[in-house]
Amino acid sequence: MSGSIVLFGPPGAGKGTQAGRITVLTGKPWVSTGDMLRAAVAAGSELGTEAKGYMDAGLLVPDGIIIGLIVERLQHDDASSGVLLDGYPRTIPQAEALSEVAVVSAVISIEVSDDAIVERIVGRRMDPETGGIYHVSFNPPPPEVSGRLIQREDDNEQTVRNRLSAYHEQTAPLAEWYAQMGLLISINGNASIDEVGMAIEEALSGAL
Ligand code: AMP
Repeated sequence: MSGSIVLFGPPGAGKGTQAGRITVLTGKPWVSTGDMLRAAVAAGSELGTEAKGYMDAGLLVPDGIIIGLIVERLQHDDASSGVLLDGYPRTIPQAEALSEVAVVSAVISIEVSDDAIVERIVGRRMDPETGGIYHVSFNPPPPEVSGRLIQREDDNEQTVRNRLSAYHEQTAPLAEWYAQMGLLISINGNASIDEVGMAIEEALSGAL
């Protein structure tokens, strides 16, 4: 597949977990706007400082900031054969901006009910050394990494509810937008990590 692949779905759907597998499968670099923003926050850059307030509140960072970030990232040499986008686009203007600088070949929509999301997110932990994502009950970490795991600041119940509202109001309409272009592939995300991964692999091999 020559273009970019978009991973689409609500927060906690498993986009990051599955992105690790798809990037190995396709060789496309994994581009996560959430990770880029968290790196900017950690570096204390002007952009990070501006983004942090929105992220902590569970709101979307304004399109102007995000579009600039992604357009710059897609100019890097490693993006010339397409990338794996995780967490972008999240609004119609972001999708329009993307279509001007990249070819989107497939949009994988991981569908998970709202009820399951809060439970998933509140138990989610990240490995700051490898980027690995675990869940205290559903995907427990091996003992050697459990001591260094962190919880994202925005992975608390109140913020998750705001992130879900932002998703339903601003991001979900994009599914229809991509469906009309014949690019949307829906995957049932209410299944084990392996089952979801296999369904994505099958869908992508069919789309090749
Ligand atoms: P994520 O790691 O994808 O869940 O993103 C964490 C937070 O970063 C989101 O709740 C937003 O505040 C912000 N963010 C990440 N990607 C985007 C985007 N494409 N548009 C707007 N805000 C974003």
